[in-house]
Amino acid sequence: MRLYDTATRSLQELPAPPGPVRMYFCGPTVYQRIHIGNARPFVLSMWLARWLSRTGYDVTLVENITDINDKIYTAAPGASAQLAADASGWYIEDTDDLGLGRPDREPKATESIPEIVALIEELIETGHAYPAGGDVYFRVSSFADYGKLSGRHGDDDAVRNPSEEEEQSELKENPRDFALWKANKEGEDTWWDSPWGHGRPGWHIECSAMAEAVFGPAFEIHGGGLDLVFPHHENEVAQSRSLGHEFARIWMHNGMLRLAGEKMSKSLGNIVSLREALDTWGRETLLVYFLGAHWRKPIDFSDDALEQAAAIAESFRNVFRAESEPVGEWEPFARALDEDFNTPDALAVMHGWRDHELLQRGLEIFGLESLAESQAAPAELEALARRRAEAREQRDFDEADRLRGEIEEAGWVVRDVEAEPGFQLVPRR
Ligand SMILES: [Zn+2]
Repeated sequence: MRLYDTATRSLQELPAPPGPVRMYFCGPTVYQRIHIGNARPFVLSMWLARWLSRTGYDVTLVENITDINDKIYTAAPGASAQLAADASGWYIEDTDDLGLGRPDREPKATESIPEIVALIEELIETGHAYPAGGDVYFRVSSFADYGKLSGRHGDDDAVRNPSEEEEQSELKENPRDFALWKANKEGEDTWWDSPWGHGRPGWHIECSAMAEAVFGPAFEIHGGGLDLVFPHHENEVAQSRSLGHEFARIWMHNGMLRLAGEKMSKSLGNIVSLREALDTWGRETLLVYFLGAHWRKPIDFSDDALEQAAAIAESFRNVFRAESEPVGEWEPFARALDEDFNTPDALAVMHGWRDHELLQRGLEIFGLESLAESQAAPAELEALARRRAEAREQRDFDEADRLRGEIEEAGWVVRDVEAEPGFQLVPRR
């Protein structure tokens, strides 16, 4: 099994099964319902963990919840703790509805303060960090390999484009340095005790501490979105490796999700939540949509792309509605996944399968075994869909929309297609 590693910019071989394979993926910062782009690393990590354990690996997947962060203070001044708790609940609810199960461990920053404080103390004792006015900063110049992971060294970035977590501080020895601990500020309603006074951890140290708390100083895979390579992961590497900890052996960074060709971002106001996407398209269509792009590549989110995914899901359902035929082989499917977890190739292989048992086994890796249980829509919904088609023919679009709504309320989606009878009914979930 080989996976592309950001650090070496090459495919790296995993140890032979049973491994172990210990995986740490950066989870969301919880201050609103997660957007559909945040679902990508979750889906990727759950699929990969499942594939590895099916192929004989001993897998542990840890995905953290960042529930202490500037974004949360900004989103709910004076009530950040409540927002973080609520938004953690929404995150669990929405990702549960993907039907992929849960990571083995989901540590929260708020529950990891002693480990975080201990790691910062060690960094100060070894000269890699320094306290200043209630804050503590990492001394970037003390770590010679800084910038190796991302190819960025922080000089310009830190000055011109401080990340959301880094304000320019007079307290820093050098603008490249980043905060490990931040003194409590006016308006911040949560703080913890520390040797440096009341305050709270910086974002990067949270992940170093949570990963090492579960796995110890070394583990096989660290994952997250491509936007986390710098500064988040670069800083995690600095914090852990400066103490002689090996930390992650392979770095997996998934490509970003783009809305109609644009990167989704809060400032552009084009964020689609996972909740909205699930309610509109259903989990099966969403999962097929994610399958269709290689995890390292960007993926475009558009109605067209989702319609296409829905059609593919429907074509799998049709295989189960027909008689099983002994058509298809497991080997090319396994080969695609073992070579950098190439899900679009695996999807193409499954497309040719007509053997029910084989197809079900393949779909199960991706949480899509439910496609095997599909039946035709109830007769009364067929009748409604027929009436809707007639209404459209007579250009009575109000009536057509009303009938579509009625069908949707019954848990089905009606789609117009070329083939007879001119429409298709698929379950919403
Ligand atoms: Zn992280």
